[in-house]
Amino acid sequence: APAFDLARIRADFPLLARSVHGKPLVYFDNANTSQKPHQVIEAVDRHYREHNANVARAVHQLGEEATSAYEGARDALARFINAPSRNEVVLTSGTTQSINLVAYSYALPRLKPGDAILTTVMEHHANIVPWQLVAARSGATVKAAPINERGELIVEKFIELLTPEVKLACMAHVSNVLGTVNPVREIAKECRKRGIPLLVDGSQAVPHRPVDVQALGCDFYAVTGHKMLAPTGTGLLWAKKEHLDAMPPFFGGGEMIREVKFSGTTFAEAPHKFEAGTPNIAGFAGVAAAIDYYQSIGFDAILAHERELLDYASARLREIPGLRIFGEAVDKEPVISFLLDGAQATDLATLLDLEGVAVRSGHHCAHPLMQFYGVPATLRASLAFYNTHEEVDAFVAALLKVRKLLM
Ligand code: PMP
Repeated sequence: APAFDLARIRADFPLLARSVHGKPLVYFDNANTSQKPHQVIEAVDRHYREHNANVARAVHQLGEEATSAYEGARDALARFINAPSRNEVVLTSGTTQSINLVAYSYALPRLKPGDAILTTVMEHHANIVPWQLVAARSGATVKAAPINERGELIVEKFIELLTPEVKLACMAHVSNVLGTVNPVREIAKECRKRGIPLLVDGSQAVPHRPVDVQALGCDFYAVTGHKMLAPTGTGLLWAKKEHLDAMPPFFGGGEMIREVKFSGTTFAEAPHKFEAGTPNIAGFAGVAAAIDYYQSIGFDAILAHERELLDYASARLREIPGLRIFGEAVDKEPVISFLLDGAQATDLATLLDLEGVAVRSGHHCAHPLMQFYGVPATLRASLAFYNTHEEVDAFVAALLKVRKLLM
């Protein structure tokens, strides 16, 4: 494997070189969206300069090149998550669309009054609200499994809640607020025993670790491209073939049909029956480049560097009196949510921005988790493999400086 050369890696990300308010940028908002290496930016640019045409609608050369870029990204994504077949990979605009597709096409037709969907307290709204919408239409309910003070799922409780009314269980692979890695394999095994399909929101997992949907043993896996170095408006839903075959199309339109007649239309096979209309072809050219980029570095090196950075950043933050970290799971990704006594999260984030430090403040689209901790908001520093120890030092120095201004 190639050596992990951080200076060379950082040079691949044009945006990391810029300054903000006259200070060198420290970008610690990676859980929100990642920055992009020039290889991804150039893949998008090259697509529009050299290959642009619509997919699967033309036999001319450019049409074939665009189709092969788009279908090539499906192949790359299928390998990236170890899907057993490329036909189980539905290309979407991101996790939100992927989960809504399962909600409306899989769950809604199956739900009846008294049924339930099980999710967890630590979910992003994208893994709560679609279930509430289909529950409201069908008379079903949404239950949420609890977490402990360290921000870990209480596995026994989740299993207890897998009662016969539950028609679908859902959980994040990794929490976007706490970094907690959930024991998906163990939960999937319990779900399988009970015949309950499991949907996993992989948004925050794929940027950090190799994902193998077959080893995880879940039924559905949702991914968003923009958090994994790829352009916005790209993502996927992986689902077992039996589920995709049983799901009616959600969006109707071009590209997803076999034959259209006013007496009745027949649909293409999965995955195409879920891909109505013109997709983000250039974006998916970028997805393929993003996957190549991860592979050129290797997840072993990424994991090792991110572990070290997380430990270092956590230790430095714990030295600060009055600083509380939310989420101290044994297995966690480099996401640190915290608050400082006597300071509002948004005030801190605003002052940190003036120091060139980009962190997110707010509820992180996870109201129920904020309710669990009894706080309106947290600050979140979320790291990526291209971040450095020096940036952690700059962040901590900035935090100590702005804290003085607020106290
Ligand atoms: N789930 C999780 C865990 C997330 O972190 C996010 C993005 N913040 C989403 C879902 C939604 O992803 P997108 O907005 O790309 O659809």
